[in-house]
Amino acid sequence: MSSLRFTAIKNIAKNAITYDVKASEKITTIFNENVFTIKTARHYLSDDAYKSLVASSASGKKIDRAMGSNIANGLKAWAEEKGVTHFTHWFQPLTGLSAEKHDSFFTLKGDGTPIQEFEGAALIQQEPDASSFPSGGLRATFEARGYTAWDPSSPAFIMETGQGKTLCIPTIFVSYTGESLDTKTPLLKAVVALDKAAVDVCQYFDKNVSKVNATLGWEQEYFVIDAGLATARPDLLLTGRTVFGHAPAKGQQLDDHYFGAIPERIYAFMRDFEMESYKLGIPLRTRHNEVAPAQFECAPIYEEMNLAVDHNTLLMDIMTRVAKRHNLIVLLHEKPFAGINGSGKHNNWSMSTDTGVNLLAPGKTPKTNLMFLTFFVNTIKAVHDYAELIRASIASAGNDHRLGANEAPPAIISIFIGKYLTDVLNQIEKRVGGNFDETDEAILKLDIHKSIPELMLDNTDRNRTSPFAFTGNKFEFRAVGSSANCAGPMTVLNTIMAETLKKFKIEVDTLIEKGEKKEVAIMQTIQKYIVDSKKVLFEGDGYSEEWEKEAAKRGLPNIKTTPLSLDAYTTNKAKKLFEDNQIYNHLELEARHEIMLEDYIKKVQIEARVMGDLATTLIIPAALKYQNTLIENIRGLKEAGLKPDMFATQKAILEKISLHINTISSHVAEMIEARKKSNDIEDSRKKAIAYCDNVKGKHFDIIRYHTDKLELLIEDDIWPLPKYRELLFLR
Ligand code: ADP
Ligand code: MG
Repeated sequence: MSSLRFTAIKNIAKNAITYDVKASEKITTIFNENVFTIKTARHYLSDDAYKSLVASSASGKKIDRAMGSNIANGLKAWAEEKGVTHFTHWFQPLTGLSAEKHDSFFTLKGDGTPIQEFEGAALIQQEPDASSFPSGGLRATFEARGYTAWDPSSPAFIMETGQGKTLCIPTIFVSYTGESLDTKTPLLKAVVALDKAAVDVCQYFDKNVSKVNATLGWEQEYFVIDAGLATARPDLLLTGRTVFGHAPAKGQQLDDHYFGAIPERIYAFMRDFEMESYKLGIPLRTRHNEVAPAQFECAPIYEEMNLAVDHNTLLMDIMTRVAKRHNLIVLLHEKPFAGINGSGKHNNWSMSTDTGVNLLAPGKTPKTNLMFLTFFVNTIKAVHDYAELIRASIASAGNDHRLGANEAPPAIISIFIGKYLTDVLNQIEKRVGGNFDETDEAILKLDIHKSIPELMLDNTDRNRTSPFAFTGNKFEFRAVGSSANCAGPMTVLNTIMAETLKKFKIEVDTLIEKGEKKEVAIMQTIQKYIVDSKKVLFEGDGYSEEWEKEAAKRGLPNIKTTPLSLDAYTTNKAKKLFEDNQIYNHLELEARHEIMLEDYIKKVQIEARVMGDLATTLIIPAALKYQNTLIENIRGLKEAGLKPDMFATQKAILEKISLHINTISSHVAEMIEARKKSNDIEDSRKKAIAYCDNVKGKHFDIIRYHTDKLELLIEDDIWPLPKYRELLFLR
């Protein structure tokens, strides 16, 4: 009874005392309090510096050194008033996390006088010693150095950690020769590519459009559990998921958690991290219980994409930190618990013009309807043409447990658009010979704008099983993993959309040159795109077996594992796509491929080690202990003169336990062998496949199965790991 498990259970009552979160302030008074917004900048910057910052934050244009010094001074004045002592470039290397290296404003003059300063040069560019970040060999081939450069389109902010306050400057992170080493650089490039391509197409409809912003509203799912219990689960601490654990008698079958009353301890935690988020300008809007016990979700109001991505990265960081104050742990892993829902991060995506039009919102006039249809159908075409890249963009060791598992979207990329729009597309498709007239009554005067929102808001017309669904005025990319940095999938989505729109424009222009009217040329191209890509549309149950069969018939890719799905990044098609749109050169692509494979290998390797360690040092010893109790018992009964059939049950349990122990230990031994063999493989792709097939595939499920069986046999008092019922229900 001295195990960590029982200490943790005993401590829950003590830990669960709700941390005192200040009474809710009015959100509007604290929103952006710690952000150097354009409005704040007005107070701290000279006219010239202010103008230059405004221009750069809109265009992403570089700021020169002289102006940089001006802005740095203003930033420092603001930050010092708020008690800031240090600053850091804040960036997102390819670890999937954010990175910082703090420097003090404090310095000494030549004569030893202490002063506080923040030079323009330090704002604009830094050279962190970054040799330990993943580079996929890029820095080995070129230069060891990497540098961070200010991204003025995402405002500086102050991070409060306890009493400490740090001024954070969002930056990109690139190698000395310019190759990107982070997630932000390619995202910014993809945002620019989409802007350009979308503005060009918008010209058909409205000459006043001069900028198109990609927009993103993410929905973050997560689990929260007691930190004491987590401490007694080395697997949770080291891998973010439970590698063992039998399903509890009660899981999510009663559907009693979804949208239920939020437990008080969690509620205090939510309010606490929300307050921190508001100060940093993260516009959180919703919070609720999710389907699985101990699972929750939050979502902000959507924003311009680059900012939205930064805000999600920040939020994950804030949640993790704030949880500790409440003696809680946030699990962002895609599948922390087997047998109940995993966590995703729905990426709601659209495009909006500087004239205030959401390009995926159905229009109200024939002209705006045609504009909507254009962007809508181009999205379908883009996802159809590059489905394997979309799949690759969400691939990770964690998401492999989720995609295709009970509640999650399958690894097949398909699009749900709802019945009404399916009918609209069918009508367009059936128009024989592309015979449209310019204000096509039948199609363009459809009341799409009236019918769609009504249908879409009605939950029955919202297929929850689709990985990519149209939800009335945006697409919801649901297959993204909960721990992912949104930049990966959003870079791909923006890029394939840019490429598709560029080609669309060429096709339409060609028809116009041949003498077609503009509207007719557009409708004919839309019709062609519908024919070309309709096989990616699917309205049925994406979780069903029939769909797997149907998708195979349609020739849609269904790649279940990360190592294989990542191949899509290095095909000639992908290289051409990313090079043509100036997102990645082929070296950057290969480096990224390498990094993602390495990440996969390491994660599976860690899981394998944790499994082996726990099985050998906790599970098997507990099983042996209980066996000894049984043996003792049998011996005693024998001595007392009882007939063998009186201890038949004990013998049967004894036998079962032996069987499980033997299977576990032989598989652990084989798994270690398989790991050694895999480690000898030079080629990362082959190594990742070996880890996937031979380490994970041949052993994880079996070791787990037998361990979970033991959990049901062995005396509860000596079972060493907190059980699912405790992790999920004690708070
Ligand atoms: P749901 O559709 O999942 O029921 P909401 O309608 O609240 O929930 O939207 C979910 C997310 O989609 C929110 O973050 C919301 O801001 C975002 N969203 C709404 N419109 C857009 C848009 N035009 N572009 C990007 N995201 C959007
Ligand atoms: Mg949603």
